[in-house]
Amino acid sequence: MPTSRRQMPRRIYPLRILGMGLGGMVVGVVLWERQASALAWLCMALPCFAWPHVAYLLTQRSADPYRTETRNLLIDSALTAALVPLMHFNLLPSVLLLTLTMVDKITTGIRGLWARALVAMLVAGAASTLLTGMHWAPETSMRVMVACLPVMVLHTLSVSIVSYQLIRKATHSNLMLDELRRVDALTGLFGRGHWQEQAEAALRRHHTTDEPACMLMLDIDHFKSINDLHGHTVGDEVIRALAHVVRGHVRAGDCAGRFGGDEFAIVLPGMHARDALAIAQRIREQTECVRLRHLPDLRITSSIGVAPADHRHSNLRAWIDAADAALYVAKHEGRNRVSGYMEPALAPAV
Ligand code: GH3
Ligand code: MG
Repeated sequence: MPTSRRQMPRRIYPLRILGMGLGGMVVGVVLWERQASALAWLCMALPCFAWPHVAYLLTQRSADPYRTETRNLLIDSALTAALVPLMHFNLLPSVLLLTLTMVDKITTGIRGLWARALVAMLVAGAASTLLTGMHWAPETSMRVMVACLPVMVLHTLSVSIVSYQLIRKATHSNLMLDELRRVDALTGLFGRGHWQEQAEAALRRHHTTDEPACMLMLDIDHFKSINDLHGHTVGDEVIRALAHVVRGHVRAGDCAGRFGGDEFAIVLPGMHARDALAIAQRIREQTECVRLRHLPDLRITSSIGVAPADHRHSNLRAWIDAADAALYVAKHEGRNRVSGYMEPALAPAV
């Protein structure tokens, strides 16, 4: 059972004491004004002051506290509705208490609870009218109005506080979800989806403002054999180490992502091919220097393809294909090298 469900009875207990207690005060003032009988006082005191503790005991003893608490919430509504005939339908407290008990049901977030509560309230209201008799005295005195204020203010504030906390929690969860979507868990670099969005934006900028941009496609050489020889855990470590190298060579506005298993893709906005090739070379050199502490003899190399954004790239796929083609050349020519996509303006393959 989720923690929020398990904690529900304990969370509701003090709120029920407060809500029913303040509601009891309001009803008490109405009863006092109309010099009600001792039985009427007892009918008010039991639900308002004894019921919260009974409800708590019931949930404590229940094998399924969440279900019991849901039933208790319906009983809250029924008891509140039963108080209305007892107050001879005094208008303000009746409307206030019925509204607040309904707000309580809606804010639990339990699907359909409000509808069940409505039925419970109608039944309890009718039963209470039958038992107490139909006495119609809707006028509300100033004294009763004043007695309504604490429950009105405190209830509104407590609902607002709970909503505030929920909104904060939801915002935090959304941020975490967004982070999970954006970031690759193994490397901390951008995940493929987010990387693509950023790369598309850079390509669009290139098309509209002519701002240069380059894409680096990096793939670890013979990575399968690292996995086969040393296991996937070491393979993962190598991927992380490579991500570290990549991160060390990108600027704040660059976009480095993990494109697939042992493949990384980097978009360098505002950068011409010559500078991008130099950065790729540095990443390649740094890759050779990577050492794993417990496998100091393991040597890692990478191949990198570089492709500048071009007006002929009608979409991201075309740009990625260009970088992939350059990477293929680097692999084909013996690996551990950088290759530029073969455009006349580019420097020759290194
Ligand atoms: P090449 O030099 O041609 O790139 O050869 P290669 O062995 O590196 O071949 P390739 O790039 O196709 O190998 C990718 C391998 O990466 C295949 C897959 O088993 C492995 N892999 C993919 N994702 C992960 C991962 O998250 N962790 C680990 N350890 N291995 C992965
Ligand atoms: Mg590889």
